Parts: sequence; structure tokens; C-alpha cells
Amino acid sequence: MPQSCAAWGCTNRRTIENRSRGITFHRFPKNKELRRQWEVALRREGFSTSESSVLCNEHFKPEDFDRTGPIERIRDGAKPSIFSFPPHLQRPVATRKAEAFEES
Ligand SMILES: [Zn+2]
Repeated sequence: MPQSCAAWGCTNRRTIENRSRGITFHRFPKNKELRRQWEVALRREGFSTSESSVLCNEHFKPEDFDRTGPIERIRDGAKPSIFSFPPHLQRPVATRKAEAFEES
């Protein structure tokens, strides 16, 4: 069974086909604190990562990658930030306008 991306709504699997499309998979950080930050970023309730959990590179910004080596790596300290969450997980955006409205 190929590994698949742990992100919400992402169906990318670790296949040769996807590899040829430029989709790479990255394990969660070993560093506990950083790993926790990734888990929080995923916003998956009750989800905890295992040794084999991976995220695909579609959830990272271009600047999160270190492409200086032969293998694409996530920079130390980088966090996944690009997700397509289902509506119930999308936080209402607190805008300045809304705050001003409450004050008046
Ligand atoms: Zn993914």
C-alpha cells in the first residue's frame, strides 16, 4: 500500500507516477516541538502522526524547501501552510472591520 499524504482532502499517494509529476513526500520532523506544530497545522482532530506519516510538497511554500542538495528537503523549522480545509475547519477571519463593529 503506497503511503498517502496526511493532509485534509489531499489524495496524493507516494507513487512513481506522482514522483514523475514532481510531487515529493516528506516525513514529519523528529523534533517534538516542530512535529507538534505540523500536527496542529493539519487541524485533524484526534490525529497523531506515526513514523510513516508523510505530507506531500503541495502543502509547503516554495521558500520552505531546500533545493541545494540532490534531494528536495524541507528547511529546518519550516511548517506546512497550504491546505484546503473543509468549511467547518476554516476559521472565520477576524478582520479589523469586525472588531470596530463590536466596539461601536
Ligand atoms: Zn498532500
